[in-house]
Amino acid sequence: MNYKEGTKCVQAGYTPKTGEPRILPIIQSTTFKYDTSEAMGKLFDLEESGYFYTRLSNPTSDCVAKKICELEKGSAAMLLSSGQAANFFAVFNIASAGDHIVSSAAIYGGTYNLFSVTMKRMGIDFTFVSPDCSEEELENAVRPNTKAIFGETIANPALDVLDIEMYAKVAHKNGIPLIVDNTFATPVNCRPIEWGADIVTHSTTKYLDGHATSVGGAIVDSGKFNWLEHSDKFPGLTTPDESYHGIVYAEKFGIEGAYINKCVAQLMRDFGSIPSPFNSFLLNLGIESLHVRMPKHCSNAQKVAEFLNSHEKVAWVQYCGLEGDKYYELGKKYLPNGSCGVLSFGVKGGRKAAEEFMKHLKLCAIVTHVADARTSILHPASSTHRQMTDEELRAGGVAPDMMRLSVGIEDVEDIISDIENALNAI
Ligand SMILES: *Cc1c(COP(=O)(O)O)cnc(C)c1O
Repeated sequence: MNYKEGTKCVQAGYTPKTGEPRILPIIQSTTFKYDTSEAMGKLFDLEESGYFYTRLSNPTSDCVAKKICELEKGSAAMLLSSGQAANFFAVFNIASAGDHIVSSAAIYGGTYNLFSVTMKRMGIDFTFVSPDCSEEELENAVRPNTKAIFGETIANPALDVLDIEMYAKVAHKNGIPLIVDNTFATPVNCRPIEWGADIVTHSTTKYLDGHATSVGGAIVDSGKFNWLEHSDKFPGLTTPDESYHGIVYAEKFGIEGAYINKCVAQLMRDFGSIPSPFNSFLLNLGIESLHVRMPKHCSNAQKVAEFLNSHEKVAWVQYCGLEGDKYYELGKKYLPNGSCGVLSFGVKGGRKAAEEFMKHLKLCAIVTHVADARTSILHPASSTHRQMTDEELRAGGVAPDMMRLSVGIEDVEDIISDIENALNAI
């Protein structure tokens, strides 16, 4: 389909034939029936495509994966049970014990732990670079056994904007792919593949679902990285897979299909991080309004950021839509229509004042979630990071007075008035 983003949000992925349900059906079935064993055998051998067991693939989930694939302008995609599973699969599909990955240090805490603790235990080494590193510094972090570079379009929660083009340039110069987690920007505000990213991941739990109903993840392949040209680095894609009768993914599925087919055939088969068809149905409903919600999240966040920025009790605000923000220029380049609804700020008076401020909020809810329709807020120093001293917090890049505000799609006057009341109370 050559439709624009909004049309894809509503219509892509599922096109009913005459007499079929207008709405994407929930195929709540673990198994699929065949007339002969031979017919089923062909599916097992990856000789023919079709469904046989929902741990590997399911028609409802596949339609939603196809929609996300079209939105990101990729060649193939898959859904997973969480964003954590998506980032793990995306890296593990091309790296194993003895390999190395370069990652921006400004990434989601869960991803940082996955990389630096759990995947390290699997024998994969990570080097974390400053998100603002120069081309030369990034280049210097790459080793002969490096298999990918990783970053987030807009980092959660640091809100740094990734220079995708520069990161892609260094990756390609070294014959490796760039993986970008595009969760906060969503394909409505940025399509990393257009800037050179090879693989895109999502925690669909956030804006794509948009209503805080379902944890989920997605991986999209651009289909542009030529695994065959770098066969020595990626033997998993270019040499026979003995667990699948010796098929060679890059030959069987082409460079457009090799990465996702391998990821499903090996990793989903063995780890089973599959979403339920019902959750995929809810995710699809969420995406149907993504292009309407994102501009509202952005314009509300912009107004809240400007209000905070001009308030005497506010010490600082970080939002790339604010002129003078460290990421204003990169934001203009990669996120010309807006970044997302998440901003961070601090109040004068530090940790104590922040705690007091939070107590007086009524509309803005204190939750650990971000990026859904309802405005929510978190003060790490008094909740998720409460055991840490101010010094320890600062060392970890979290200011003691830092509050992460996820601006929802309510009427912005009500959000601002709630914040104003709470500021007046401190
Ligand atoms: C939330 C988040 C994740 C983890 O996703 P889950 O769906 O919670 O497993 C990964 N990356 C980013 C940028 C996130 O915001």
